[in-house]
Amino acid sequence: MRPFTYVLPTSLEQAAEAATQPDTIVKAAGIDIVDRMKERLVTPQKVVNLLPLKRELSQIAEQNGEVTIGAMVTLTQLQEAKQLQGRAYDGLRRAASTTGTPQVQNRATVAGNLLQFTRCWYVRSEAFRCLHGGRGPTCLAMTGDNRYHAVMGWSDCVRVHPSNLAPALLALGAEYTTRAGEAVRRRKLADLFPADPRAQNPEHTLEDGEIVTALHLPAQPADTRLGYAESREKQSFDWATTACAVRVVMAGGKITAADLVLGAVGPVPMAKPQAAQLLVGKEPSEKLFLRVAEAAFAGATPLAFNAYKLPIGKAVVRAALEEATR
Ligand SMILES: Cc1cc2nc3c(=O)[nH]c(=O)nc-3n(C[C@H](O)[C@H](O)[C@H](O)COP(=O)(O)OP(=O)(O)OC[C@H]3O[C@@H](n4cnc5c(N)ncnc54)[C@H](O)[C@@H]3O)c2cc1C
Repeated sequence: MRPFTYVLPTSLEQAAEAATQPDTIVKAAGIDIVDRMKERLVTPQKVVNLLPLKRELSQIAEQNGEVTIGAMVTLTQLQEAKQLQGRAYDGLRRAASTTGTPQVQNRATVAGNLLQFTRCWYVRSEAFRCLHGGRGPTCLAMTGDNRYHAVMGWSDCVRVHPSNLAPALLALGAEYTTRAGEAVRRRKLADLFPADPRAQNPEHTLEDGEIVTALHLPAQPADTRLGYAESREKQSFDWATTACAVRVVMAGGKITAADLVLGAVGPVPMAKPQAAQLLVGKEPSEKLFLRVAEAAFAGATPLAFNAYKLPIGKAVVRAALEEATR
């Protein structure tokens, strides 16, 4: 690991100022970023550790139905928060509870989970020279071992976005607030992920020095339910191979509004508005869920070793729908 200056801020103002300096990164729990530093894939001059700000940045509050989640709320806190116990948040708690291990959930922060780097084994290894890392001419996974890679949404790089929380938070219509120096901005969570996720683009659209301070979940209509399901190879200590979060609003036995977001199948979380629209105005049924699952994966283009993601991903969509409408 290259030597670096370590900043332990005593206030958000201090952290926000330090983070705007050149060649500086911020660290939350460090589960992802420290791994990448050890591999010498990230070699900053300065690391701003946000952990001293944990008290300030790990509050969860509800006002007029909107829930604000501090950026450093852990995945365990997320599961236990009284503000997130209703059916509208079932899928969010589930997404947190299936992340890694209890140890990971006790440390990992919400912002760190959303901003984690892809798990592509080519770009995460110092041994390979890959296009996404800016160190090679091609995407090595495209022709290499791509069993965990993208089946949709890719152009020159087949990495997948690994965050469990992203599909659930996106389906809930979340927004996020950042601080850079003295500037505070609030944007839709969908804008955190690049619209054109090419190799040269990072996993997220944060500008240098921007610190995420909070996530915001808008007030949900009565009888909103969020379902979440995922497939994985191991029961624990693993990332999803496919994931789906689906938000439905129910009235009189019918679905009156819906959002559906896939995870682990593209370089960014993949919103599927056309598939979600098929649900609107209908009563839940197995036949309907089959149609929605087909629509969610319409046009998917598997690589040499990941065609399994299509049937499994469709089953995961149906499982999320069943959970949301049961
Ligand atoms: C064994 C194992 C299994 C795992 N399984 C899963 C899984 O199934 N699903 C899943 O989603 N994840 C999984 N993870 C990944 C884990 O959830 C993430 O590594 C973790 O959430 C990162 O959070 P962190 O607080 O440690 O972030 P860090 O590692 O500290 O930071 C991650 C990135 O976010 C940036 N960052 C962090 N906080 C902020 C902020 N407030 N503002 C701006 N930038 C910020 C950092 O600069 C860095 O680029 C697993 C990890 C392990 C070790």
